[in-house]
Amino acid sequence: MTDEKPATKATSLGRMSAGHHGVVNTPVYRASTILYPDYAAMTGGDPEYTYGRRGTPTTRSFEEAVGGLEGAARTVTVPSGLNAIATAILSVCAAGDHLLVTDNAYGPTRVFCEKTLKRFGVETSYFAAGDDIAPLLRPNTRAVFCESPGSLTFEMTDVPALAKTAHAAGASVLMDNTWATALYFQPLKHGVDLSIQAATKYVGGHADVMLGYIAANESHAARLHQTHGNMGLYASGDDCWLGLRGLRTLPVRLARHQETGLKLARWLAGRPEVARVLHPALESDPGHALWKRDFSGACGLFGLILKPVPESAIAAFMNGLRHFGLGWSWGGFESLIVPSHITRTVRPFIAEGPLLRIHAGLEDADDLIADLEEGLERLRTHPSTGSG
Ligand SMILES: *Cc1c(COP(=O)(O)O)cnc(C)c1O
Repeated sequence: MTDEKPATKATSLGRMSAGHHGVVNTPVYRASTILYPDYAAMTGGDPEYTYGRRGTPTTRSFEEAVGGLEGAARTVTVPSGLNAIATAILSVCAAGDHLLVTDNAYGPTRVFCEKTLKRFGVETSYFAAGDDIAPLLRPNTRAVFCESPGSLTFEMTDVPALAKTAHAAGASVLMDNTWATALYFQPLKHGVDLSIQAATKYVGGHADVMLGYIAANESHAARLHQTHGNMGLYASGDDCWLGLRGLRTLPVRLARHQETGLKLARWLAGRPEVARVLHPALESDPGHALWKRDFSGACGLFGLILKPVPESAIAAFMNGLRHFGLGWSWGGFESLIVPSHITRTVRPFIAEGPLLRIHAGLEDADDLIADLEEGLERLRTHPSTGSG
């Protein structure tokens, strides 16, 4: 049997029509108690469904679909992307262990390590995206956590090389793959042990659900499943259903997000107000070669460094935008823009001016460009900018 293409998997996996009267989509199951047919089944069997918290057909449909796309041995669903990060780390680390995390990880990942993990005796240190991790590994390094491209600055990491080095030292490899989704990069096929996804973003795709999942390879399946179960983690049937619903159109949505994102990025790169665009799919980006080698596409999220301007000029730019919402998160159908504030502890990230992050939504790209053009005009002519 040939391995089907990701778009086919996203559309067809996890459907349980036969068990639901031919209905195309697995319905929303709401369940706590699940009844057993008899005493023997209750005391001796190993049934698929035992209790609401341990999953229903809606949960399983979602896990089968995303797990198939990831090429996973086991997938678990959790209430948010951040919980997927925390649960993945807790499934491998124990007191006395060391965890090595990328310096450009999603901000709350760092906070979890510094505030919660530390209390349980796990020490975290950090590596810069382009650096060789070999000298940073310690005898007690239990896991290496990466994110590529990294949050806010979109720097690429050589994931297969990192995985090789980590495995040689006996450490597990965890990756936050929210940017590419399993459609454009399959972490488990590149040496990662636990692939983490904030399904809140592109999988949900409509800015109306919080959801996360972790996909494990064979060697990490049992410990992930156990940790997930012991922590009482659960995502509701409604939320899994929304995740599945989003997944079915992910291939077409992501292709458009990519196309529009690149259009905006290229246009912005040519503007006099812009110092630099941070987008690994641009040929000029320092991470382009790695992106091209390992990824089959880019999403609609990228960074932008403006030439130095006062904050009030940035406010004038952002306040008048008609199509870009000012809001956190991304991956929905709508365009967004936010100011970015970077935390670095290995070495500083040098930016020529203020850093912004843009999410290219599904609006017409020409309308988005016109909106940005008017905004940059407001920025350029703002009294505080000086050049007038
Ligand atoms: C948003 C985000 C998360 C967290 O997802 P939530 O569902 O909001 O908890 C994790 N990683 C990355 C890269 C993100 O952008």
